[in-house]
Amino acid sequence: MDNLSTEDIVKKYGFRFSKSLGQNFLTNTSVLQDIISGAEINKKDVVIEIGPGIGTLTRELLKAAKMVIAIEIDNDLIPILKEELKMFDNFQLIHEDVLKVDFFNITNGTDSVKIVANLPYYLTTPVITKLLNKHYNFKTFTVMIQKEVGERIAAKPNCKEYGALSVLVQYYCDVEVIGKVKPSSFIPRPKVDSIVIKLIKLHIPRVRVKDEKLFFKVVRCAFNMRRKTLRNAVKVLNISPKNMEEAFKESGIDPKRRGETLSLQEFGRLSDCIYEIC
Ligand code: SAM
Repeated sequence: MDNLSTEDIVKKYGFRFSKSLGQNFLTNTSVLQDIISGAEINKKDVVIEIGPGIGTLTRELLKAAKMVIAIEIDNDLIPILKEELKMFDNFQLIHEDVLKVDFFNITNGTDSVKIVANLPYYLTTPVITKLLNKHYNFKTFTVMIQKEVGERIAAKPNCKEYGALSVLVQYYCDVEVIGKVKPSSFIPRPKVDSIVIKLIKLHIPRVRVKDEKLFFKVVRCAFNMRRKTLRNAVKVLNISPKNMEEAFKESGIDPKRRGETLSLQEFGRLSDCIYEIC
């Protein structure tokens, strides 16, 4: 029997979409194929899918991967997923809020984990932040997100999209754009364009820093007050002005610059000098 389409499954179960859970299900099969080929899934991979919906993407992942672990929060989707994907013996379903799941536990330390998701917009930043800050051991994260957030993630210094999220992601990952996706590829249609990007986890962070926590603290305060000069923005760190001036001098960073002009390497140099001097 042919696979049922997303629309057919929604109709079959009389499923009602939840706006608050960001439910826009993929209907365009060519976008589906782009995600699968972009993610480069093979039979050795354990895939974690966040938010499988009615299982459109999950089904294709199950055909390509060794195992798929899907994490879904919506009670109403659990019986649908169990029924529609019951023919696959490499499928595991976790009924939970992804923000509460410990990714180390569910993969038993396997190091060939690839994560795939068509994420609800409200979850994009929390999920990416969680996966990177907790140092989970994944190879790639192929994810459909709001186009504007994708542009922020991939942004380079000196543009308005460049911010703390760009630095966080680029510190840990290479960012590859797989393709842009129009609202007509989903039911119901979202109001904005989407983009599929792939985060490829680096073996070691892009910049070697003496104190990672301090590095991200400096980054956050630089972008919290984007319009301010660095000299003013770092005041929240409560470092004596004399020491701070010395750290600027040692790092070769002009305190009159604004945070959005600094590369990751420059943020690294500045935070290392603060670590040494202050
Ligand atoms: N993967 C499906 C697709 O591409 O058609 C559905 C994508 S839909 C944009 C997002 C999915 O994430 C929905 O199934 C929604 O119920 C689920 N979801 C929302 N919040 C979640 C959370 N906190 N934890 C796990 N799943 C969540």
